[in-house]
Order: sequence, then C-alpha cells, then structure tokens
Amino acid sequence: MFIEKFKVESPNVKYTDSEIHSVYNYETTELVHPNNEWIVKPKTVKYEFKTNTHVPKLGVMLVGWGGNNGSTLTGGVIANREGISWATKDKIQQANYFGSLTQASAIRVGSFQGEEIYAPFKSLLPMVNPDDIVFGGWDISNMNLADAMSRARVFDIELQKQLRPYMESMVPLPGIYDPDFIAANQGERANNVIKGTKKEQIQHIIKDIKEFKEANKVDRVVVLWTANTERYSNVVVGLNDTMENLLASVDRNESEISPSTLFALACVMENVPFINGSPQNTFVPGLIDLAIKKNSLIGGDDFKSGQTKMKSVLVDFLVGAGIKPTSIVSYNHLGNNDGMNLSAPQTFRSKEISKSNVVDDMVNSNGILYEPGEHPDHVVVIKYVPYVADSKRAMDEYTSEIFMGGRNTIVLHNTCEDSLLAAPIILDLVLLAELSTRIQFKNEAEGKFHSFHPVATILSYLTKAPLVPPGTPVVNALSKQRAMLENILRACVGLAPENNMILEYK
Ligand code: NAD
Repeated sequence: MFIEKFKVESPNVKYTDSEIHSVYNYETTELVHPNNEWIVKPKTVKYEFKTNTHVPKLGVMLVGWGGNNGSTLTGGVIANREGISWATKDKIQQANYFGSLTQASAIRVGSFQGEEIYAPFKSLLPMVNPDDIVFGGWDISNMNLADAMSRARVFDIELQKQLRPYMESMVPLPGIYDPDFIAANQGERANNVIKGTKKEQIQHIIKDIKEFKEANKVDRVVVLWTANTERYSNVVVGLNDTMENLLASVDRNESEISPSTLFALACVMENVPFINGSPQNTFVPGLIDLAIKKNSLIGGDDFKSGQTKMKSVLVDFLVGAGIKPTSIVSYNHLGNNDGMNLSAPQTFRSKEISKSNVVDDMVNSNGILYEPGEHPDHVVVIKYVPYVADSKRAMDEYTSEIFMGGRNTIVLHNTCEDSLLAAPIILDLVLLAELSTRIQFKNEAEGKFHSFHPVATILSYLTKAPLVPPGTPVVNALSKQRAMLENILRACVGLAPENNMILEYK
C-alpha cells in the first residue's frame, strides 16, 4: 500500500513550529588490532538532529543554462508546474518527474496488517517543491531557452510548442569563456561572454547572483555547473594547492584557473551551494580548502546518469555474489554538443578519469576474489556521432570468472536521451543540497550543533565520482549510496535505518 505522508510519534522526536528535533542511537562498530588479531566492538553513539522545517523559496542558477540539460530541466519543470500534457504517437503524455529520486521514488515505512506500507521519498522531510523553483543562469551562448530547447532535439515537438511561450523570454546571462579549457569546436557558440580579469569575472558572478536573488525574491540560491566538460586544471604547488595560493593566483590573473573554478569561487565566497555536474577537477585543493574554511557547501563531480549508474549496480551485484569481474569495456556514442566537446582528447580525458574509478570500492571490498592491487581491465571509449543527437548509446561488456574457472560475459546495450536522464538528477542535487543546509546535528561528545561537512558526500548517489572530504572513503556502490542518504534522512525523524530484516514475519 502507498501512503502520501506520515508523522513519527516517539519520545525521541519533537516537532515544533520551526524544526524537527530527533535523538538517535547510531549503532556502529569500533575495530582494534592488537597482537595481529582483529577485534570488533559494537558501539552505540547518541546523536541529535535538528531540521529546520521552513522551506525557502529556491532559486537555481545553472551554468550552461542554454545547453541540453539546462533547457530540458527548465522545460520539464515548467511542464510539471503548468500541468502540461501532449499527444505522442502512443498516448496523451502527462508531465512527470520520473527518474528523480526525491520526486518519483518511494521508501518503506513499515508493515500494517500484514501489508508493506510505502511513502514518497520526499515525505521524509520538508523539501522544496520543484514546481516552485525559479530558474536562471549563465551561458556563453545567448540563445533563449525556447530556441535552446529546439536545438537540443530532446522533447517531442507537441511539448515544445506548448513550452515555447514560457521559455522565449528566458535568456542566459553571459558566461566565463576560456577556449583553453573546452574543445576548440565550441568557439562558434561563444557570443555571450564576461570580459575582464579573473578577479573581475568572479565579482561579476557574485553580482549576478545577488541581482537574481533580489529580482526573483528568492530566499536561497543553489548554483550548479552543467556547462561543457573542461579539461583538467594542473594542480601546482603555489598556484591552487591552498586557499591562500588560489586567491593570490586569482589576483595575479593566472591562466590555469578554469571558468568552473571561478564560478565555484564566487559561490563559496558568497556562501551559495555549488555543485559540479561535469567531470573536471573544478574543486582544486585550494577551493576545497576555502569551502571548508567558509563552511560553504560544494558537491560533485559529474552526474551519474546512465552507463556508470548501471556499472555501480552491476559490479556491486557481481562482486557481492562472489563473482569476479575481470574485464569491463564501455563504448558510448552520442551526437549532442556534449559529445562534440568530448571529441577533443583533453576534455575526453576528464570524462575517462571520472568514469574509471567507479568500481574501486567494490573490487577492494572482496579479498577472496582479488589479490591486493589486482583490478579488472576497465576501458571507456566515447565517440561523437551527430546523427543520434541526444540519444546516447552505451554498450558494455562485462566478463567475469565464475565457478571452477568458468567465464561469464554479460553485454548491455542502452539507448536513451541523455538529458532526460540528467535533468531529474540535477533536480535531486539542488533539492538535496538545499535540504542538507537546513540540517544540524551533534554527537554526545560534541557540545554544539553543526552542519554536515561542506564537502557534501550526502549527494554521492547522484554523482559519478563523488567528491569526499580529504582522507575519507569513497563509496560508489549505488545501493549503499542510496541507503546512506535515506537512512540519514530517516535519522532526522528518529527512524531506525532500513535494515530489511522484517523479523516480524520470520
Ligand atoms: P551542452 O553542451 O548541451 O550544454 C552545455 C552548455 O554550456 C552549452 O550551452 C554551452 O554553451 C555552455 N557553456 C560552455 N562553457 C560555459 C561557461 N564557461 N560558462 C557558461 N556556459 C558555458 O551539454 P549537456 O548535454 O547539457 O551536458 C552538460 C554537461 O553535463 C557536460 O559537461 C556533460 O559532460 C555533463 N554530463 C551530462 C550527463 C547527461 O546524462 N546528460 C551526464 C553526466 C555529465
């Protein structure tokens, strides 16, 4: 059975007009390693969570607003808000938020008279309704969002016709264009750019955010990079390795500071959450350093939409089943502007790096299958094929060793509009980033409530190469990432983690 909402009644949970306060016993383990022996000690740590229930009016500013993802997300939200439906060759299609974890997935809340009861994921805690988001942003192309939507060739034509009047007047603000960081084939698009030094460009972005906030009367802004994939920036001691060095490099107008790092710097300086949806290393060490000092949320990298999402499920399943993946080969071809940009070796390299580490945690978790340091062969190929436009093809071959030296080969072929996969993920990223800034917590050893670490690992379900605070483990397995997110939100309302034991029926 499916219920729309629920309230928790417990001595550990208090709902007031402005917050939900929960006391939570975190069951964990402590490991010790005396005399070559491993001892595991279960322990319980008492935590308190405080969630501000005032849902702000949210503004979302996209860098690369006029791209396929930007125009698809903006159109999709307008279609939902306006209750738009359109005729396809199959049926009358209603706007929906399929593919969004927060808007279209469910959580189990318990059993009632022998039946499992589920509720929307978004019913766990008060979240911004995506229909209420005000969109804005920047693009190095000045094309309005209606024309950008046509250029993207993602939505059915009947839907485009209905959306056009809402989107014609939406024109991106000028972006920061640096041809050294993206493919040369993007030059023709760049007719809408901010001039000046790097320092002036940062100030320009800060001014844009303030003016957007004021003009749209929004309480909070989240900025997300869905612009072209950049090449990696060189990380150099003295240039961008510390906060001080990075800021000094901006003052010196150093060429190796990328546009995405400049956008991120502007946001961190203004305490505006910034999420990177592309693979490049926007978050150079100096930027992470600044975000930590300013306690300003940063999250990334690279939306986990298709092939990598499948990989983080399939390899988790194989290794979890005691099967040994030995070779993983992934081919992609796509024909949108992202594909054209990725046809340059330097930008492709960023994507290759982001896609390559995704199986590491799963492989390292099983010392029966793999010797220390052993790793499956893992190759990623991306080709630009204009005809397929946004409809990306992903072909994967997984070869594994099974029982008694047997071999198993699984081949997948996935065809899908890339932007229809990415848009709901962008939505989840901004909604969860906003929500996470309203949560405070402390454990019994800490005197004061504090927010989550500014490097937002809570978003890792949604990203290919989750950014984590220096020195903390990266989890790529999709089911673990989802459980982490769901269980933290459950803790905020005093619910135990979903353990799937269902002892009631055993
Ligand atoms: P796109 O090329 O259609 O859109 C990118 C937009 O960014 C373009 O309109 C371009 O003019 C603009 N732009 C480039 N540099 C800019 C800058 N410095 N400032 C402002 N605007 C700038 O690409 P897309 O398909 O929308 O994808 C966007 C990004 O998301 C790409 O980097 C892609 O790799 C990444 N991504 C997409 C998916 C997916 O499933 N669609 C998944 C993971 C990552």
